Amino acid sequence: MAKAKRPVFIFGNWKMHKTIDAAVQFVKDLIPLVENSSPQIYLAVPFTAIKPVSEEAKESNIVIGAQNMNDASEGAFTGEIAGEMLKNAGAKFVILGHSERRHLFNEDNALINRKVKRAIEDGLQPVVCVGETLEEREEGKTDAVLEEQLSMSLEGLTKEQMGDVIVAYEPVWAIGTGKRPVVEDIEKAHTFCREVLAKKWTKGVANGTPILYGGSVKPENAKELLKPADVDGLLVGGASLESEIFAKIVNYQTEK
Ligand code: PEP
Repeated sequence: MAKAKRPVFIFGNWKMHKTIDAAVQFVKDLIPLVENSSPQIYLAVPFTAIKPVSEEAKESNIVIGAQNMNDASEGAFTGEIAGEMLKNAGAKFVILGHSERRHLFNEDNALINRKVKRAIEDGLQPVVCVGETLEEREEGKTDAVLEEQLSMSLEGLTKEQMGDVIVAYEPVWAIGTGKRPVVEDIEKAHTFCREVLAKKWTKGVANGTPILYGGSVKPENAKELLKPADVDGLLVGGASLESEIFAKIVNYQTEK
């Protein structure tokens, strides 16, 4: 099937890596490597780096965002951060429901749903992650897990609000492991996610929602992973930490 007319997105997720100095240096190095690249380039950086990196990337084609936020607008929540603070620091988007948040910090779909709504209210584009564990896959539950996570995490969003949402399919067992599903299975999962969105909202909403793949993406597999019609981009963890490697993924079309 031919690619739909959705842009290609390449996201980097730095997780808990990089001081302010290292983050700014990365962006300085990345800008000339990707200034003529066609994908939309998004970097999810640590909270401390959002402001300096946003300033460094201001005139570039790189969009800066965050990796998490609280679901409240403000309050007595020691150590937490609000969407308004992220926005004020220069973030344009926020990753929500990443498997590390779901599994290491016990975030459930109801909390992720509240965060998604708060992010939209605060003017941040939510990037909502879904994905099955290996056990769930082996028990044949992948579709059921994806349907539940999508449906509950996005519950109550209007068609207009869905226009802001990006979905990322990230099988938990493929994150940081060097393992991943075969491309046919990734394609099936993406097509299924789009069907869930069409059933819950409309075909127009489903076709307008970018769906990224994440899990052990490398420069060597980016081109193959981006071939299926329903894969609109990549969410890259480990391979986004070095500017030259990340640039190769962004430039997947011209890389050998
Ligand atoms: C991620 O952090 O979302 C991720 C997919 O990590 P990695 O690319 O290292 O598997």
